[in-house]
Amino acid sequence: MKRAAMLIVLLWCAMASGMVRVVTTLPELADFTRQIGGDKVKVDFIVRGDQNPHFVEVKPSYMMKLKSADVFLTIGMDLEMWAPQIVDGSRNSSLSVVDLSQAINKLEVPARVDASLGDVHRFGNPHYWLDPRNVRPMMEEIVEALAKVSPGDEGLFRANANAYLKNLDTRIAGWEQTMKPFAGKKVVTFHKSWTYFASWLKLDVAGEVEPKPGIAPSPSHTVEIIDLVRSAGVKAIIVEPFYDLAAPDQIGRATGAKVLQLPTSIGGVDQATDYIALIDYDVRTLAEALR
Ligand SMILES: [Zn+2]
Repeated sequence: MKRAAMLIVLLWCAMASGMVRVVTTLPELADFTRQIGGDKVKVDFIVRGDQNPHFVEVKPSYMMKLKSADVFLTIGMDLEMWAPQIVDGSRNSSLSVVDLSQAINKLEVPARVDASLGDVHRFGNPHYWLDPRNVRPMMEEIVEALAKVSPGDEGLFRANANAYLKNLDTRIAGWEQTMKPFAGKKVVTFHKSWTYFASWLKLDVAGEVEPKPGIAPSPSHTVEIIDLVRSAGVKAIIVEPFYDLAAPDQIGRATGAKVLQLPTSIGGVDQATDYIALIDYDVRTLAEALR
């Protein structure tokens, strides 16, 4: 009886505010949701742009965020290994958990899942949000998830998504133009975060500073990468702001390659204020370094 009464109060609150309450893992997903939902959604996110999304320490405050949410948007593909724990901890049985990777053309998917690799990319590479062409299928999933909670607003959600995607398409064409002279250029990245980004812009990722995704650099592997950077003529080493710069700086000093700190999420650098600003910052900074 007590639980039923509470549900009625919760339901009344939701109807009174008329908003879909959404929590996302990454700030990008919160940005997309705001673009689609406008004042019909209340959005919060969990991972800050200066945090490694693979390794997030579970906090009670994250469970509290999910407690009163209608929808929880995730990247999926095991990026957020910590997410099931906060979903359980929220004790929110009506929460709709959405995996946005469903319609994505996934890269580096292993023929079979092999946990013995000690790999954080066991189900393939989850960093697909860094190819802006993947925003369309992600937004389609978000529209559907919001419309399930608020069916009367589906038309509005869809129109907002289409307007955003139309503008994004123009920006994509511009970014491709900026990077066109650098097609085929070799880069080294710290982690395999840039696979989709590089595939989109036809860059060649020659190697990673990490021996395996999620495994910290080792002296012997760093020596191998120094040799690779020299022999392949790599000009840039791309590192997210949350990784230690010791190994990349060592490679940079030994070879003359530039070490670039590029954010993979909103807030990773001050200029990355939203998704478009994030991709714009990465493209412009990289183009400048490869020039
Ligand atoms: Zn990763």
